[in-house]
Amino acid sequence: MHRFILLNWQPFTAMLKIAFHSLYAHPLPAGHRFPMEKYELIPAQLLHEDIITQDNLFAPHPADEATILLTHDADYWQRMKNLQLTEKEIRAIGFPLSAKLVEREIRICQGTIDCAMYALQYGAALNVAGGTHHAFANKGEGFCLLNDFAVAANYLLQQKMVRKILIVDLDVHQGNGTAALFAGRDDVFTFSMHGQHNYPFHKEKSHLDIGLQDGTTGSEYLAILNDTLPRLIDTVRPDVVFYLCGVDVLATDKFGKLKLTMDECAERDLVVYTLCKKHGIPVAAAMGGGYSPKVKHIVNAHCNTFRIAKDVYGL
Ligand SMILES: [Zn+2]
Repeated sequence: MHRFILLNWQPFTAMLKIAFHSLYAHPLPAGHRFPMEKYELIPAQLLHEDIITQDNLFAPHPADEATILLTHDADYWQRMKNLQLTEKEIRAIGFPLSAKLVEREIRICQGTIDCAMYALQYGAALNVAGGTHHAFANKGEGFCLLNDFAVAANYLLQQKMVRKILIVDLDVHQGNGTAALFAGRDDVFTFSMHGQHNYPFHKEKSHLDIGLQDGTTGSEYLAILNDTLPRLIDTVRPDVVFYLCGVDVLATDKFGKLKLTMDECAERDLVVYTLCKKHGIPVAAAMGGGYSPKVKHIVNAHCNTFRIAKDVYGL
């Protein structure tokens, strides 16, 4: 609450706020398959291209425990915080557990909360990390420990800042943790469009799932999105959209199995932002996955999302 009051006291100069902390690029063992360096390269590229200045960036604080516990089970959180997760649990997460990693995760959660609040104020905001949609209330997997979208959604609802949230999860992997966390809820609508035959192989049930076949092209993908998203916005009527803009939909991706070009991936972002802007809906975005062998493909695709958000919302 304290932080929200501070935000409101800022002079009203609309700008694109971007959550970034030096801990986002967490050191991993040599040869680890997660491209952690992207978290440093994205803000560097945006600054280099003069798309943003340092003023756009803010370093999120760690989310507080009461906020995390609105979403996650106390036992899971306590064991994570005390570095007491089992070997099996840590293996499912895929990162070595350390105090720095836990601090990183709770700063990412707060970054998404802050982005949601900045989006309510300015129209759009983006977290350079986050989109950890494979984390459940009581377990993590697939490089996700805590579910930042769920933490932020539950916080905004508890604070009565919004009444209805639409999660648009366009990462190539199903948002299984998010789906499970909001099953049966009518204040958060979960939409996941993903590769049907990709990880996670056991899918949870979102409010709306669209499972794509391997080899789906960009034009097929965009036709489905253009058909689905306007109808969803009309029926759900959200106060805010949380957008998970994973770039593992690219044809270059090692794991994605879809066939989107760089331009089609940017077109996807443009569809989401243009439609939300047209309906006056704020958008908070988090990056999610991306596993193209050349990191420049990952970084360029993510940077396109920032460019488009800035252009569409005039920030
Ligand atoms: Zn993914």
